[in-house]
Amino acid sequence: SSGRNNLHFFSRHLKNKATFELQLEEELHLALSRDNGLFLTYQPILDLRNGQVVKLEALVRWQHPQLGLLPPDRFIGVAEANGFIAELDAWVLRRACQDLAILAGEGFPDLRVAVNCSALNLCRDDLVDEVKHTLQAHDIHPRRLELEVTENALMSNVNQALYLLECMRSLGLCISIDDFGTGYSSLAYLKRLPLDTLKIDRSFIMDLPGSHADMEIVQAIIGMAHTLHLQVVAEGVESREQLDFLKSHGCDFIQGYLISRPQRLDGITDFLRQQQGS
Ligand code: C2E
Ligand code: CA
Ligand code: CA
Ligand code: CA
Repeated sequence: SSGRNNLHFFSRHLKNKATFELQLEEELHLALSRDNGLFLTYQPILDLRNGQVVKLEALVRWQHPQLGLLPPDRFIGVAEANGFIAELDAWVLRRACQDLAILAGEGFPDLRVAVNCSALNLCRDDLVDEVKHTLQAHDIHPRRLELEVTENALMSNVNQALYLLECMRSLGLCISIDDFGTGYSSLAYLKRLPLDTLKIDRSFIMDLPGSHADMEIVQAIIGMAHTLHLQVVAEGVESREQLDFLKSHGCDFIQGYLISRPQRLDGITDFLRQQQGS
């Protein structure tokens, strides 16, 4: 139908894939608008100085009616490609604020929550207002909320990122640079951005303390971060040996299966109570 001299390849596989993606997109949209199926899990972040959990990272999940439990990597991309990642991240923010209020009621008024912010959202003009209003609506002090932004998201538009982060900062939020080491960071820019925390990507932690290269890299990142007055979180800590290495090299916080897997809010409150008791 596109005329002569035109040849179009078309396969059943492609069609099925396209149909599948389209359906997933529609279902995700429904799940969001009906607030049905998406939920948050929380993973504790431990302060190595005193062994206390000071912060939780919010990680979204989707309980799909047919496909079962879906990890974020399966649907964040769908939301990004179809223009409703802003809605998804706004949903996460609202739920996280509700949960912060619940946690305060359960006796954890100082506990903080970090939420992930998609790169695409950094370009939105209304992001700062949205964060401000959501915090106000749930009566949450801005100090209790932290934004995690990947280094690639920051570096792809430094001036925009700089402006946005300064606004967030003046609201009172803390900012983390996520997945550090996997993207392209310019140290010159890193110095200029108003950041509080640097999260070392799991790929550098995985082979500690066996890999000499990773040991050197992690030490160098910790040193550089401290020079820039940033606190350091190591992601994906799974063993006692990794903890010992990180602690002896001055890492500030750890996060990973060694401490806890991400859990729903009720599981996490039980976990926090046990920690308090011990
Ligand atoms: P991330 O921000 O790097 O999150 C850490 C991921 O590592 C999580 O996977 C977590 O479950 C996993 N993890 C934590 N500790 C360990 C460990 O000791 N060992 C191993 N093997 N893995 C560990 P998850 O929950 O599947 O999230 C994947 C990514 O999806 C996140 O990577 C983040 O980039 C994105 N994401 C999650 N929630 C949200 C959200 O609400 N909004 C946006 N925009 N992105 C999100
Ligand atoms: Ca993160
Ligand atoms: Ca990360
Ligand atoms: Ca990561």
